[in-house]
Amino acid sequence: MERDQTDKICQLCKKKLEKKKTDFEYLGHRFFTDLLRCPDCGQVYIPEELVNTRMKDVETLLEDK
Ligand SMILES: [Zn+2]
Repeated sequence: MERDQTDKICQLCKKKLEKKKTDFEYLGHRFFTDLLRCPDCGQVYIPEELVNTRMKDVETLLEDK
């Protein structure tokens, strides 16, 4: 079996996402990190793990006024 369970497929293009250093914006903050990205349409897959760790920091910062 060659199937790698960690592979993510773009829902639009049905292509395998590639890990790439990606610059993206979330909640008005810029991040530059390794993300899975579709080579065709550029759709970025943001893993839950990243949302739960980094994004929480951001949300905390935003709430702390
Ligand atoms: Zn795509």
